[in-house]
Amino acid sequence: MRLILLGPPGAGKGTQAQRLVERHGIPQLSTGDMLRAAVKAETEIGLKAKSVMDAGQLVSDEIVNQIVSERVDQADCANGFILDGYPRTVPQAQALNEILEGKDLALDAVIELKVDEAALMKRIEKRVADTKAAGGTVRADDNAESFGKRLEEYRAKTAPLSAYYEKTGQLRVIDGMAQMDAVTAEIEQIVGPARH
Ligand code: ADP
Repeated sequence: MRLILLGPPGAGKGTQAQRLVERHGIPQLSTGDMLRAAVKAETEIGLKAKSVMDAGQLVSDEIVNQIVSERVDQADCANGFILDGYPRTVPQAQALNEILEGKDLALDAVIELKVDEAALMKRIEKRVADTKAAGGTVRADDNAESFGKRLEEYRAKTAPLSAYYEKTGQLRVIDGMAQMDAVTAEIEQIVGPARH
């Protein structure tokens, strides 16, 4: 099962991806997490990406396409994967097509979590408060300014992906404002029962 989760920052993609991981035993490939790991490890990619990410802008397509292409080759992806935060631009979606074709793989579904933008800021504020309360480190881009920029980037560059995947017939839109469990249930309806 190969899935894409689409939706603006704070839509709940990470939470739902985590549940899919547990239920279906396939990994979540979050380009955001992979890039943050590269920043932390101070790799060449990490050094290039850090300031762009902190400002809430998008890292170059070339970098993320390469990261994803290499990640998909790893053994734990043999039964599928959940892409979270990728593709984020139409050129990335086109690149993903080529990457998958080159490996003889295909996508099963693209699931978009539709949310009310006004609610997103509140969710992010809560995520920051919860992280602080738990003694964790708040992400460098979880502040009002960078979050606003991330939303703007989403509107301009990622939202057009809905139309792109609508045309390919792969898009499924669900209500991301529903209770977390209800969202999970809708996703499970689309992807079908766990196979392991
Ligand atoms: P969000 O919570 O905003 O969805 P992510 O954790 O997915 O954030 O990503 C954090 C940052 O990492 C983005 O703002 C962007 O700078 C970078 N990033 C992640 N995925 C991509 C991608 N597919 N293309 C370009 N940049 C990306």
